[in-house]
Amino acid sequence: MRRYALPLALFAAFEAIAIALWLAKGNLFYLFNFSYIGASVALGAGLFIRGSRNARRVTQLLVGLYMLVYLGLISRENMQLEGFWYYLFTGVFEAATIHYAVAKIFGPLLFGRGWCGYACWTAMVLDFLPYRVPRGPRKKIGWIRYAMFVASLLFVAALFLAHVGNIERIMFWAFIVGNVAYYAIGIALAYAFKDNRAFCKYVCPITVFLKPMSYFSLLRITCDHDKCVQCGTCRRVCPMDVDMLDDSRRRENGTECILCLECVRNCPKKAL
Ligand code: SF4
Ligand code: SF4
Ligand code: SF4
Repeated sequence: MRRYALPLALFAAFEAIAIALWLAKGNLFYLFNFSYIGASVALGAGLFIRGSRNARRVTQLLVGLYMLVYLGLISRENMQLEGFWYYLFTGVFEAATIHYAVAKIFGPLLFGRGWCGYACWTAMVLDFLPYRVPRGPRKKIGWIRYAMFVASLLFVAALFLAHVGNIERIMFWAFIVGNVAYYAIGIALAYAFKDNRAFCKYVCPITVFLKPMSYFSLLRITCDHDKCVQCGTCRRVCPMDVDMLDDSRRRENGTECILCLECVRNCPKKAL
């Protein structure tokens, strides 16, 4: 049982959030929502402990499909950045605002960019492409994420300033169009740069929240330098070009780590 302490602890943490939000908001949905996500994350962690190569992908598909299909398409909740701005402007602490607070703003202080490795429905598709490990150097076009971030904010602000009616309906269609565009750009960039995660590295506006918060993450990969033989395998298999051999928070691409654990799994000396 001690072997599974981590999955159990993860499930307990999500269950605590589920119960707290259920009682605070008086809405059974939160109990179901966070219990389901907690169970999916715990299942992935359990499979990893059992040595499954697909542990992360199982969690990614369970959570990603649930959010895209059930929350996004069936329940018509816009969980994209535009949805976050929309709920923020209306002053409603529901759906997208809670999602952003837990997964993308305050959660990363604890679990870094775990969202990007285990739950994002955009990366869920991109991770099926053939370039798991980037085949070229990083490009200096990260500024695109800031342009996307500002464009998203201006789009929603303009709807409010122009007093456009039925913004809920526009948000639903923005979710559909936004996702189709993200998939199209993400797939095109993956093939152009031979890098599945090129979209995450240069375009995704959510990283404007994720990167600074994950800088302070409690959960992070560190190296036991007494065991390490400097073989370089860990850096070769990292999809995000992180220098995990440097333990400082300022390490190269440190705020890009998605906790996929590929480096840990491939280290021949169990040094990570
Ligand atoms: S960077 Fe953006 S697209 Fe990539 S996994 Fe994270 S949230 Fe998803
Ligand atoms: S794979 Fe392990 S042993 Fe090799 S460089 Fe990385 S940490 Fe060191
Ligand atoms: S391979 Fe290691 S350092 Fe790179 S993203 Fe995955 S967990 Fe982070």
